[in-house]
Amino acid sequence: MPTYSAPVKDIKFLLHEYFNLQQYNNLPSFAEATPDLIDAILEEAAKVTENVFQPLNLPGDEQGCRLENGKVITPDGFKEAYNQYVEGGWQGLTGDPEYGGQGMPQTLGLVLNELMVSANWGFAMYPGLTKGATESIHTWGTEEQKHKYLPKMYAAEWSGTMNLTEPHCGTDLGLLRTKAEPNDDGSYKISGTKIFISAGDHDLTENVIHLVLAKIPGGPEGVKGISLFIVPRNKINDDGSIGDNNGVSVGSLEEKMGIHSNATCVMNFDEAEGYLLGQEHKGMRAMFTMMNEARLGVAIQGYAIAEVAQQNAAIYANDRIQGRALTGAKNPDAKADPIIVHPDVRRMLMTNRAFIEGARAMAIWAGIQVDITRQHPDEAAKNKAEELLALITPVLKSYMTDQGVEAASRALQCFGGHGYIREWGMEQFLRDSRIAPIYEGTNGIQAMDLIGRKLPANGGAAIRAYFEMIQTFIDANKDNDAMGTYIPLLEKALGRLQAASMWLMQNGMANPDNAGAAAHYYLNLMALVTMGYFWADMARKAREMLDAGEGDTAFLNNKLTTADFFFHHILPETSALKVKIEAGADSVMGLDAGAF
Ligand SMILES: Cc1cc2nc3c(=O)[nH]c(=O)nc-3n(C[C@H](O)[C@H](O)[C@H](O)COP(=O)(O)OP(=O)(O)OC[C@H]3O[C@@H](n4cnc5c(N)ncnc54)[C@H](O)[C@@H]3O)c2cc1C
Repeated sequence: MPTYSAPVKDIKFLLHEYFNLQQYNNLPSFAEATPDLIDAILEEAAKVTENVFQPLNLPGDEQGCRLENGKVITPDGFKEAYNQYVEGGWQGLTGDPEYGGQGMPQTLGLVLNELMVSANWGFAMYPGLTKGATESIHTWGTEEQKHKYLPKMYAAEWSGTMNLTEPHCGTDLGLLRTKAEPNDDGSYKISGTKIFISAGDHDLTENVIHLVLAKIPGGPEGVKGISLFIVPRNKINDDGSIGDNNGVSVGSLEEKMGIHSNATCVMNFDEAEGYLLGQEHKGMRAMFTMMNEARLGVAIQGYAIAEVAQQNAAIYANDRIQGRALTGAKNPDAKADPIIVHPDVRRMLMTNRAFIEGARAMAIWAGIQVDITRQHPDEAAKNKAEELLALITPVLKSYMTDQGVEAASRALQCFGGHGYIREWGMEQFLRDSRIAPIYEGTNGIQAMDLIGRKLPANGGAAIRAYFEMIQTFIDANKDNDAMGTYIPLLEKALGRLQAASMWLMQNGMANPDNAGAAAHYYLNLMALVTMGYFWADMARKAREMLDAGEGDTAFLNNKLTTADFFFHHILPETSALKVKIEAGADSVMGLDAGAF
């Protein structure tokens, strides 16, 4: 049975030492979140994820969800675990206090999300979808809608979903057919079928609030004619109690590769009563609130699954006796050494470690940008955070989820054949991880979003702000001997990204296939430069603390060694990426479609 221990030490280092969250206490949510309160929340979250959610992960995967008499039943123990989640008040942690939330920083919500996913991804998705839905209702809802839905959803008594996908319409939402016909009372009749709906139905809450994309007849063609609707599974009576079914039913449950404990439903809407959220035909804008939040949430799933897989691989590597160390026996009294002595096993563990810790820093930074965009008193600071966040969200979603799969696979590899056997739990991590590059916009689409929308947006303001952020750091640390080779290596990698950006500008316009062929590589190049920036800066902080005699010496020295690994074993990939970008589309597009 795999185990999980929440990485509280690393998170505390990031929140308190590296990012020094106290510096943001001019923002209302941070003013409330004192270091002591953050630590108390973190430790409580560690307890509940380790002791309540994690033990249900493997049995939940084996049992899965089932559909009985039109209702979805979650695996044994999920209902009781969910009740503990409700009692702990976790769902409303970052919610708006005006509607019953606790007003804590989004940054903290994001940390909680990591722990939940590491412990039990399938379970974590039920509250995760609710969080996304509350964000959309909070941003786009009328006061009446906010008062009606948010308190119950913050209390986790009602859950939420997002309904975009239809059988013939995935990436290209302009094709969607679900119809919304106006009723005389201002509501709409929603009719259509949605597929692959996560947490579409279950037995954990008394109601499910669906957010549904649909087209109002007579509206503009394509994505410009899409509107967003709130469609409760059960009608809600005037006194707030739960009424009859609202024409919403589960057609079937998808049989799938992983996340078996999360119900992926075919949802039928049969003249269900729906209420417009935001403006008519502006559904994509409203949905994007949910999707951006969700994309960050999915990015976290990437390193969260890597974290738990890595923890188990590290335990196994210290335990499994096989072969001798190349430099002579490390365990001479036994017949063989533990496999952790082998450089190839170390390579896998170090690659994972450098990814996970770098990714965690990037995600927490993104969380802070979310809080700044929502609360900062200074418009310029808000705008800059918004621009950087928009630029980096597809990078985080795509890179972290691709690497999450790779990391889960490397962790499995450390187990040899035992990794392939179910009882060790490693194959579940790999199966579960595989959905993240697919949903919330496939990773290919994230890359297209980055180069097609985010780079040129506002005359390239975001990418300029990004280059400036990293260049300013390089300039400030050039003469810092303690940074060793990191700064020159980071500067070279940044140069490659700048050159690749220039190449894209010159060659992407002339032939859009050049841009399309380069998009995935460019996104990964930007991810590595960003991670290099955070690794260099974390190393700076670790060195500073060591010099000042502060903190845990072993922990800080491990940070420095991992930084070293990142700079010499991972960042060099930027060279190859630049070459691939500049190779253009000729060989990518050269074959006739029929030749494949
Ligand atoms: C377990 C699971 C849970 C899900 N949960 C939800 C949910 O809660 N709500 C919801 O609405 N949906 C959900 N989805 C659906 C998911 O978001 C879609 O599967 C995804 O958006 C891709 O759509 P598609 O499957 O139709 O693939 P397609 O759109 O058919 O894409 C197929 C391939 O072609 C590529 N491609 C397509 N168009 C382009 C293009 N223009 N440029 C470059 N490449 C392109 C894609 O990247 C992909 O690799 C879920 C799916 C699964 C499997």
